[in-house]
Amino acid sequence: MPDIRIDLYSDTQTRPTPQMRAAMAAAPVGDEQRGEDPSVNRLCRSVADMLGKEAAVFLPSGTMCNQIALLVHCRPGDEIIAETSAHIINAEAGGPAALAGVMVRALDGERGVFRPEQAEDAVRDGRRHSPRTRLIAIEQTANAGGGAVWPLQTTLAVAEVAKRHGLVAHMDGARLLNAVVASGVAARDYAHAFDSLWIDLSKGLGCPVGAVLAGDAEFIGRAWPWKQRLGGAMRQAGVIAAAGIYALEHHVERLAEDHDNARLLARRLAELPALEVEEVETNMVFFDVRRSGMTAAEVSERLLARGVRIGENARHRMRAVTHLDVTREQVEQAAQVLTEVVLDGAHAA
Ligand SMILES: *Cc1c(COP(=O)(O)O)cnc(C)c1O
Repeated sequence: MPDIRIDLYSDTQTRPTPQMRAAMAAAPVGDEQRGEDPSVNRLCRSVADMLGKEAAVFLPSGTMCNQIALLVHCRPGDEIIAETSAHIINAEAGGPAALAGVMVRALDGERGVFRPEQAEDAVRDGRRHSPRTRLIAIEQTANAGGGAVWPLQTTLAVAEVAKRHGLVAHMDGARLLNAVVASGVAARDYAHAFDSLWIDLSKGLGCPVGAVLAGDAEFIGRAWPWKQRLGGAMRQAGVIAAAGIYALEHHVERLAEDHDNARLLARRLAELPALEVEEVETNMVFFDVRRSGMTAAEVSERLLARGVRIGENARHRMRAVTHLDVTREQVEQAAQVLTEVVLDGAHAA
């Protein structure tokens, strides 16, 4: 594999900083699955407080947060509503079908955001032969939607639809804190109307592993047996929870830098006629390479040969993600390399 100098593949590519590693090394620990790990308990308390929820549970991944939420809230044969591009549908290895046994009703939104009326129309009316609608899920920010921020009013209106029909409102908040920093809306305000939600520690927050699922005490109580059953219960997990505590104290405000860098990259790329750049709201820059005459895979390969990694999202769509381990200068360099690749491609064609 070529040497990657600038990795814009994902905000999962961050490495723990020396300070974060020091916090991990110094963490008080205990047996997590007995509730005896002080660092895990502290992390869960602080996430629950930040989200205005009664309780929280530490899990190895965001995927497990989503899957456990479905397992707790739903019965096999139930139907959940989510946006077509949602992670829950596209990137969890069929988990909703394989684990909770739910059907998924996909709604086509705008940049990953559907309208409350679409959700309303999708709710089943409870006839004998139809599946039972049980849950509405939103993704904040909408990853494949372009890192788009769900406006607070829209999230509230969607949660209101859920409430009116006796459904559960669930938020995949993998990048909720990017939405918070971008919009200035407090995390607890976004969280308030949702029965369950979670944040990922291993994305822009820069931790090596972990996610925290929150809700009321009853929900978290019911999540625990699933954590145990799926093998997500841990022992001296304070070592990794300490990274989360560190990140919540030091890596939230700085997400604004990632957003600035993403806008900078988008401005540079927008100067290239061969690229069509989508609107940037947080730390993701999606762009279409069709006019370059190359596929996303071809562009990606040429970038990689020059030490820059940017992932392909579809045949002609690419995604660059800014994060803790990419400086402003590197973003400028990446834009320069991409410019050269696109111009070379145009000459070759
Ligand atoms: C990354 C991601 C997940 C899954 O989180 P993992 O920690 O990688 O399992 C879920 N939803 C969204 C929107 C994500 O970006």
